[in-house]
Amino acid sequence: MAPSHSMELPRRIVIGEGNMPDIGGFLVSLAGGGASLVSGPQVRSAVGGIVEGSLYEAGMPYVWHHTSDNTAGSVERIREEIRADHTSIIAGIGGGRSVDAAKAAAAGLDMPYVSVPTAASHDGMASPFASVRGERPHSVVVSAPLGVFVDIDVIRRAPARLLASGCGDLVANIIAVSDWRLGHRRTGEYYGIYSASLARMSADIVMENAAAFAEGGTDARMVVEALISAGVASCIAGSSRPCSGAEHLFSHALDRIAPGRGLHGEKCGLGSIMMAELHGLDWESIAGALRDVGAPTSAAQVGLGEAEVIEALCTAQELRPERYTILREANLDHDLARDLAVRTGVL
Ligand SMILES: [Zn+2]
Repeated sequence: MAPSHSMELPRRIVIGEGNMPDIGGFLVSLAGGGASLVSGPQVRSAVGGIVEGSLYEAGMPYVWHHTSDNTAGSVERIREEIRADHTSIIAGIGGGRSVDAAKAAAAGLDMPYVSVPTAASHDGMASPFASVRGERPHSVVVSAPLGVFVDIDVIRRAPARLLASGCGDLVANIIAVSDWRLGHRRTGEYYGIYSASLARMSADIVMENAAAFAEGGTDARMVVEALISAGVASCIAGSSRPCSGAEHLFSHALDRIAPGRGLHGEKCGLGSIMMAELHGLDWESIAGALRDVGAPTSAAQVGLGEAEVIEALCTAQELRPERYTILREANLDHDLARDLAVRTGVL
């Protein structure tokens, strides 16, 4: 008999334009009591006034907490601060790190949280995983967010590079799903065709619309909906499998080898081009779509050198040996890795 499979999904997702003034009502609809808000100082100065006005109107008390990173130390500090708030819900408001810190803090406190992304640079807004720096593995399993609240006008005001990075994180699902299917064939691990299809659909949205985005600008709303859908695919799968394969391992390897260079989605995009080639997929169309949305297609564009790319390719699979990917079969040594990167234009 197959083991039981449980899925935890967000209860309420709101995507609007210019709707930040409604956030108070949104939080009240999900929890009584007060809210602990986690954000970076820049985000607070950008949207803090609107959020505070809305919470005041909704009659919800709140306490702000600041973080500029998602290190294990910051998560621990915020967790202790929130413990003293005696609130009933946590809202992570920001581009990524604040949401990660809020998620990870909520998990330790057994409190519900909502994501309020102010940029669409990766698929973490609705996913049940948080990335915490300084811990292995790179993402820790937390709960699915109770709610996701997005103001597309705020997302549009974020730098264009962040939205392009989000497209890179979506294209990565093509590789992730291929790796998942491969792992299933080789090891018999669970493969969920529904969540795999859902993750693929959000990648296809970028592939099919990239040319139009190149003409008329990237449609932020379409990308946000795809990123949320990808997060939900992970919720349904109960693992990051549908959205994270060899291309994510490559990105994680670079996080260590060359910290601070390139955004998560940018590195996943570069990895996707090369892993597509290993899978025998059409890597040129992936590179073309990334170019169309303004995402990098070469290491030099994000300040990465040849040695770093080669080392990341050769060591990526070791970061997570239990996750079967195409890298397991490619067995890249220095020369093969270099050849792959050169052949696909990454180097
Ligand atoms: Zn990702």
